[in-house]
Amino acid sequence: MIIFKEAAALARHLQKQRTMQRKTGFIPTMGALHEGHLALVQEARQHTSITVCSIFVNPTQFNDPNDYKKYPNTLDKDIYQLEKTGTDILFLPSVDEMYPHSIHGLEHYDLGYLETVLEGQYRPGHFQGVCQVMSRLLQKVQPDELFMGQKDYQQCMVVQWLLQHLKMNTRFVAVPTIREKDGLAMSSRNMRLPEADRKKAPAIYHALEHIRRHITPGSLTPLLQEARDLLEKEGFKIDYVAVADAHSLSPTDTWDGKQPLVALIAAFLGEVRLIDNRQVTK
Ligand code: AMP
Repeated sequence: MIIFKEAAALARHLQKQRTMQRKTGFIPTMGALHEGHLALVQEARQHTSITVCSIFVNPTQFNDPNDYKKYPNTLDKDIYQLEKTGTDILFLPSVDEMYPHSIHGLEHYDLGYLETVLEGQYRPGHFQGVCQVMSRLLQKVQPDELFMGQKDYQQCMVVQWLLQHLKMNTRFVAVPTIREKDGLAMSSRNMRLPEADRKKAPAIYHALEHIRRHITPGSLTPLLQEARDLLEKEGFKIDYVAVADAHSLSPTDTWDGKQPLVALIAAFLGEVRLIDNRQVTK
């Protein structure tokens, strides 16, 4: 695996690969890697000949400065795992490399309602930061294919919008969520959970499963309340428990028996904010 810290050197290297008709697959991450991230690398390796992973904890997407400060860093282990999984290139830029002028006063993206619902509503500015970092990464890497996790369902939609906005030809691949044995979606933030909270954390998955198993046409309000009760019983502080159209992400509280729906949850256990989602209808 070759590690690049400078974008110009990375771009020169990738340009050479392109002249040899090698397809590039890109996996952007913030590090503290787990099996979920590695599944993206494995998927990329099946589709493309050069896999580029980036590790960059992007300051502009953290609406909570404490969350940014406490973001886990396990770089040595990450490098080892990426090597073992067969990653070809790791891009490891500094904040100055990504934002040479300042992290303030950056460009604004017109994301419409995607920025006002769910994560957009509860994390103001978050998706602006995602677009700011992703546009820079995409322009530097210029991947043929981009691999991201369905775990961050709304982020997948925002980045697909961004690819169109940037008029990039990159194919977007959404990779299914990898879970722990007890159902908890793998996340870098899980390592911040104290042991007692770690035991409670799968309740998010159980709440999603409860919605999936019991959904029937008509009002969804009682079912959503049951899912909320399940979480509150375990001590979660809920941001949202919602059901939305799987394509548009428009939240709904009724089901016509046909519309494809996804259930989405964001909730805190202590200081740690967890999110998860699951398709709940076929
Ligand atoms: P992050 O490092 O949290 O920014 O995540 C980097 C990428 O890994 C994003 O595309 C995430 O959606 C994806 N990812 C995170 N957790 C999982 C998981 N449990 N399963 C699959 N993909 C994941």
